[in-house]
Formats: sequence, structure tokens, C-alpha cells
Amino acid sequence: MDCIFCKLVAGAIPSKRVFEDDLVVAFRDVWPLAPTHVLVVPRAHLASLWELEDERLAGRLLSVAARVARDEKLEQGWRLIANTRDDAGQEVLHLHLHVLGGRKLGRMLPG
Ligand code: AMP
Repeated sequence: MDCIFCKLVAGAIPSKRVFEDDLVVAFRDVWPLAPTHVLVVPRAHLASLWELEDERLAGRLLSVAARVARDEKLEQGWRLIANTRDDAGQEVLHLHLHVLGGRKLGRMLPG
């Protein structure tokens, strides 16, 4: 098992978990880009959003991201990002949603 997020889900490497259930784990990004920067990942290994076909899991990932945003009190606004494959700069090849908020995030521009 060479996937860092699989190891993290298994508890083999430490993380600051903010939520977990039977399908999904959410934990703080180790290099936060905003006051709130949480990653929501499936327990099962999927390389990216490209590989996601399970609608139940897709719904759960989205609803957990929204729940994390509410728990973090991001009522001023927040952003959900899924870097997918090379052109988007995906670095960790285990599907993850970034929940970002707690400051003005600026306009989202390509590049
Ligand atoms: P991406 O570029 O979308 O693949 O983002 C990968 C994210 O994983 C980056 O924001 C990293 O800071 C984060 N990351 C990498 N290793 C860890 C770790 N052990 N615990 C928490 N976040 C991590």
C-alpha cells in the first residue's frame, strides 16, 4: 500500500481528523492555504474524481464537505476544489476534495 492517504485513512500515519463515517474521512491539510483547509477523502482507494462512478459515495463526499464547512462556521463563504489528474496539478493520487475558507479567497482563475 503505497498511497499516503490510504495510510492516513488506516491510521498508519497521523492526521487531524475533523469527521469520519463508514465511507469518508475528513482531516486538516498539513500545509493549509486558508484558515480552514480540510481534505475530504473516500476510505476506499480511488485515484481521482475521474474514477468516481459510485453515486452514493459521490453524494456522501459532497454532503460531508458541506457539513465540514458548517462545522467550521464558514457562513461567509467557502470553496470546494478537486484537482483532477496532471493538468490540474493533482499531487496525491487518492481522490480528495479541498474545503477552503475563513478568508477572502479571491476570484478563481485558470492557471
Ligand atoms: P492536490 O495537489 O490536490 O493533490 O493536494 C494534495 C494535498 O494534500 C496538498 O494540499 C497537501 O498539503 C496535502 N497533504 C499531503 N500530505 C498530507 C498529509 N500527510 N496530511 C494532510 N495533508 C496532506
